[in-house]
Amino acid sequence: MSFNAYPRKKGEKLAPLAERLAKLGLKRDWDYVLHLPLRYEDETALVPIGQLEPGRSQQCEGEVIRSERIRRPSGEQLQAVISDASGSLYVRLLHFYPSQVKQLSVGQKVRLYGPVREGYFGLEMLHPKIRTATVGTSLPTTLTPVYPAGEGITQNWLRKRISRALLDVEIKDLIPTTVLNELGLPHLSDALRYLHHPPVGASLQALDQRSDPAWLRLKFDELVAQQIALRHSRALKAVYRAPQINPQTHSITDHLLDGLPFALTHAQKRVFSEISADLTKTTPMNRLVQGDVGSGKTIIAALAATLCIDAGFQAALMAPTEILAEQHYEKIAQWLKPLGINIVWLGGKQKAKQRTQNVELIRSGQAQFIVGTHALIQESVQFHNLGLAIVDEQHRFGVEQRLTLRRPVDGQMPHLLMLSATPIPRTLAMSYLADLDVSVIDELPAGRKPITTKLVSLKRKNEVMSVILQQVHEGKQVYWVCPLIEESDKIDLTAATQTYEELCAQLPSLRIGLVHGALSAEEKQTTMLAFKDGNLDVLVATTVIEVGVDVPNATLMVIEHAERFGLAQLHQLRGRVGRGAQKSFCILLYGELSETGRERLKVIRESNDGFEIARRDLEIRGPGEFLGARQSGVPLLRFADLESDAPLLEKARDFAAKWLQESPDEAKQHAKRWFSGYENFLEA
Ligand code: ADP
Ligand code: MG
Repeated sequence: MSFNAYPRKKGEKLAPLAERLAKLGLKRDWDYVLHLPLRYEDETALVPIGQLEPGRSQQCEGEVIRSERIRRPSGEQLQAVISDASGSLYVRLLHFYPSQVKQLSVGQKVRLYGPVREGYFGLEMLHPKIRTATVGTSLPTTLTPVYPAGEGITQNWLRKRISRALLDVEIKDLIPTTVLNELGLPHLSDALRYLHHPPVGASLQALDQRSDPAWLRLKFDELVAQQIALRHSRALKAVYRAPQINPQTHSITDHLLDGLPFALTHAQKRVFSEISADLTKTTPMNRLVQGDVGSGKTIIAALAATLCIDAGFQAALMAPTEILAEQHYEKIAQWLKPLGINIVWLGGKQKAKQRTQNVELIRSGQAQFIVGTHALIQESVQFHNLGLAIVDEQHRFGVEQRLTLRRPVDGQMPHLLMLSATPIPRTLAMSYLADLDVSVIDELPAGRKPITTKLVSLKRKNEVMSVILQQVHEGKQVYWVCPLIEESDKIDLTAATQTYEELCAQLPSLRIGLVHGALSAEEKQTTMLAFKDGNLDVLVATTVIEVGVDVPNATLMVIEHAERFGLAQLHQLRGRVGRGAQKSFCILLYGELSETGRERLKVIRESNDGFEIARRDLEIRGPGEFLGARQSGVPLLRFADLESDAPLLEKARDFAAKWLQESPDEAKQHAKRWFSGYENFLEA
């Protein structure tokens, strides 16, 4: 069954399975039990081919009456026609395996499940799930769950693994039945079984909206776990002391400031002084710096770090992706190496020998400033005297990961500084992380050119080609961001491949590159660097990549199906252009637009101010997806929504307080179920 497999070059290596699973938060059986479906496929019914409806995902059965392989610039495609008594249907595979050629050979009977659409020649399914063995057999009696997956992890594998975990784990309900009855919530095991395998007839709508009692139960549990963790972290903070950063001389900090080619903005100065004040205290700092894309957060982080180094402590900066982390490293090295600071890099792709050397430098204290990815929070990394932990794009890390970086040593807990371009309303931030302080850089450095944003219907996509040609002829470069399909890298890949093909066909004179989630890190890196070095004119990318490179020569960004993105995300993506001196543009290609959808895109067109955009987004949509949690992969809360589930949050808060007092052991056990790796923290 190759439906979920990725096309992979021969010899290409994936990270070890355990590592990829850990990325999804999957380590223990409980993690699997709590890995809930994003959506469901209804394979409980068969639709006659003649009655298939475009725009829906449906299931049908038929016989292959034609099958051919077709050459295209991006490679070979497989196209087949399936028919039953009521009609026929095209099936297209943009990349395929020999096994699929066999499945789709003439005369084969197949069962297909997939999105039905209006193709060139009639109805078609692009990359449906194809089965031959089940043809004519009885249909499943439960909806098929679709889980958040990752590189090389198939739905089939996840389904089996999760079903096994559901059998293996003793799902003891820790919450007393009386409490559940009061709240009108079902038992945990019932809720979990229902969510993983909803029976025929379950309301798909309630499931999708996550509003049925089973979902409420899970959200309640998550919120309770969060509350327990928060209370615990507050208690810890009272116990631990932070190193007092009160340097005798500010020589490094002053040199850094003096050497900068620009003066700090007022907002930067204010935020830096807020941080400096926190650092002199012996209570650990817990501060979030919010600032729009390009507002200059990196220099603030570097200055905070030099204060620590001036005082004889180490500082560390962690970023969510290899590319972002590397960019920070380069920038910081450029600022601080000339001042004689020892900066050390720690990344996932590093050679073992180099890594061991650097880990040793960190342990001995010779490394003064450490920059890297998740590699920083691995067990083997022990800091000599970490004074300050900095986390960039904090919303993309889980609570546990942030806490791990600032893990206390000998009763001392480092200060924590978090950076974010995703504006989170202060009230929301505070209710989430009860004792979080927030600083806002509400001013952009002078001289930034606003980006001109245009809304164009996807129907006029062809006209965009001439704009691209024009930019490239002027020696500039172009990003093309493909639609966001959150639950599946694979569909992402299909969409991106298709766009890439179209662009290659329509712009044959241009050098076009493609990056998507199914590529290895090296391949991604190679293509991104080619773009950075000007060897590609157009970079087609899925957001899985998070176009993180800084390419001042890129002056146009096209975002396909812009209506599917969050506003904050659109704004951040758009921030990738307009980095150089030239005038820059962003074209938002939209498909079907609802009234709200139109309103939202208008906000993006009319404003270049991330905070204004966030505020308007909040007005239009409510704060549901505001935190970008659904899009970021590592959400603050996976299931509950602070705003729409506010009543539940209140109940969770009350219950958590009572629970911790009356049965602390059970309360802690509950938190451990929810947070992988939380054990260490609770016992710290
Ligand atoms: P972000 O807040 O998005 O992380 P960066 O820290 O990457 O932004 O800053 C964007 C660019 O602006 C960098 O090239 C940085 O050196 C520059 N920069 C930062 N502060 C200022 C300033 N006060 N004046 C001019 N340029 C600045
Ligand atoms: Mg940044």
